Amino acid sequence: MSSASTEPKTCHQCKQTISGGVLTALDKSWHPDHFCCNECKKPITESKFHTNDDQPYCTPCHTKLFAKTCHDCKEPILDKCVQAMGVNWHEDHFLCQDCKSKLIGTQFMEVGGVPYCQKCYLSKHADRCKGCSKPIADKAIVALDAKWHQMCFRCSKCEKPIMKDQSFQVDGGKPHCVKC
Ligand SMILES: [Zn+2]
Ligand SMILES: [Zn+2]
Ligand SMILES: [Zn+2]
Ligand SMILES: [Zn+2]
Ligand SMILES: [Zn+2]
Ligand SMILES: [Zn+2]
Repeated sequence: MSSASTEPKTCHQCKQTISGGVLTALDKSWHPDHFCCNECKKPITESKFHTNDDQPYCTPCHTKLFAKTCHDCKEPILDKCVQAMGVNWHEDHFLCQDCKSKLIGTQFMEVGGVPYCQKCYLSKHADRCKGCSKPIADKAIVALDAKWHQMCFRCSKCEKPIMKDQSFQVDGGKPHCVKC
C-alpha cells in the first residue's frame, strides 16, 4: 500500500530522495538544510523567510537586496513606505524640516528638495506681499518689482484692487488706477 503521504519526497534543491525530515516551503519539498537563501546560500532556519521571484531569501539578504531605502535616515524601509518627491521615506521620517510634524496625508510644500508643512512653508519660504507683508499662499500679483496679494495691490487713491489685466500708473512708488 502506498499513499501520497508516504511516498518518498524529492528535494527541490539536490533532486535526491528525502529520507529524513522534510521541509515544505514554496509548495515544494526540501532537505531541511537544502532550503537556502538564494543570496547567501545559507540554510533558512527561521520560520519567516522572504521570497522574490519565487526564490527564498533570509531576512538580512532580502532587506539588503530589495528593501527601499529611506531618503532621510538611509536605512531600509521594512514597514510602511511613503513615496513622495520621487523618493521613499519611513512614515515617521517624512517630516516637515522645520517643525518636524508628520507630513503623511497632508499638503506639503517642497523647497529645494526639502519638504515643509504648509504652515512652515508659508511663514518661512512663501513670497511676502509688499502691501501687507504677510505670506502669499495663492497666486501672487507681480508688479513694481514686488509680489502682492491680489487684494493688496490697490489703487493708492480710490483703494480699489487693481486687477491683473488692468493697466495702472505709478506715482511715488505707489500704484493707482489710470482714472484716479
Ligand atoms: Zn536536498
Ligand atoms: Zn541570505
Ligand atoms: Zn528613515
Ligand atoms: Zn512645519
Ligand atoms: Zn497682502
Ligand atoms: Zn483708483
